[in-house]
Amino acid sequence: MPTPLQTALSRIDQLGRISDSPSFLVRTFLSPANLTAARLTRQWMEDLGMQVSHAPDGTVRGILAGSDSSAPPLLLGSHIDTVIDAGKYDGALGIIAALAALEGILAEKFTLPFPVHLLAFSDEEGTRFQTTYLGSRSIIGPLDQKTLQAKDSHGITLAAAIAQEGWHGDSVPIRYSPGECRGYIELHIEQGRVLEEGAEPACVVSGIAGQSRLSIILTGRADHAGTTPMALRHDALTGAAECILAAESLARLQPPLVITVGKIQIHPGASNSIPQSAAFTIDLRHPLDSLRESALAELHRSFSEISAQRRLTLDWLPVQDNPAIPCDPTLTKKLLQSLTVITGSSALIPSGAGHDGVILSKICPIAMLFIRCRDGLSHHPDEYASPEDIGCGIEILTHFLKSQKL
Ligand SMILES: [Zn+2]
Repeated sequence: MPTPLQTALSRIDQLGRISDSPSFLVRTFLSPANLTAARLTRQWMEDLGMQVSHAPDGTVRGILAGSDSSAPPLLLGSHIDTVIDAGKYDGALGIIAALAALEGILAEKFTLPFPVHLLAFSDEEGTRFQTTYLGSRSIIGPLDQKTLQAKDSHGITLAAAIAQEGWHGDSVPIRYSPGECRGYIELHIEQGRVLEEGAEPACVVSGIAGQSRLSIILTGRADHAGTTPMALRHDALTGAAECILAAESLARLQPPLVITVGKIQIHPGASNSIPQSAAFTIDLRHPLDSLRESALAELHRSFSEISAQRRLTLDWLPVQDNPAIPCDPTLTKKLLQSLTVITGSSALIPSGAGHDGVILSKICPIAMLFIRCRDGLSHHPDEYASPEDIGCGIEILTHFLKSQKL
């Protein structure tokens, strides 16, 4: 008989082989591979004796009864979709580790006092429609019209995809109202290097960082590269370079603030022309909204000064502003106690990446557990979490579940 950990490791490999491409791992919203992965996950839940159902969008749910069937359920879960050329742990591990913890609990003939609902969300990454959290958004209420009209790269709307490609046989809408559930717990790989640097196998998450995205355009003057003396130039690119370095310095002085410039375009973009305009992106994240906002204000001041000194025009265009989502203090404390019992650690770190908990926090308290991943690598085929660390995550989850009272 394989142990729950051995079963979990083999399941990670099995899901990792279900892909829409023969050469790399990819499962997007309602793709054939995503639905195959959903069916397999449903089967695993059924094998555990869970009462299973699926939604038309491919989200799967397994319910494990507790001794009090009327008690508010605890939600566990993660997502089965992936990015393009993904690793096999992001998302899948959270579902498979939860299954392993429940399997171990059942094998001990231990009965939890409340029902557990395990959710495998059809979409979190938003790879197909460039819209994140479709799976978890759908369980807290109907998707809005704007989201339903989003189109994939073939021009198919989300509404048409659900109608034509959805999993309709025996499907039921899976919905929860605010206050209906006792909480949502997700285990996920860290996707960063903090645990590796600290030689810790796992940690609890304090909250999900708030994020601001901006589009910055600096405009100067395109002049001849040979005939314009340095003192007379209005070079948008050197101005952008100074702004980007100022952003880096600001973030370095205020950890855990992180600022990234991931994209830059210059015009006209010729070797013998002084750049007239430089347009670049800013992605700024901090777990505390007040400090994110003050960092934004400081960045704006700094960019304004640099543009004025260099006689450039600054366009500061906010694109997106997502507030931070703190994890629930009570659930987080309980998860920390289990972390300490199993690993001796009390590591608590913020998540720079978004997770389904962002959405679930609208209807119930949330808490998250991170597992170390090699080199912090994620969204990459070399993504890896060791069997020891996965085993540790399953033990923490098991300890947490068994120590919960009604
Ligand atoms: Zn994920």
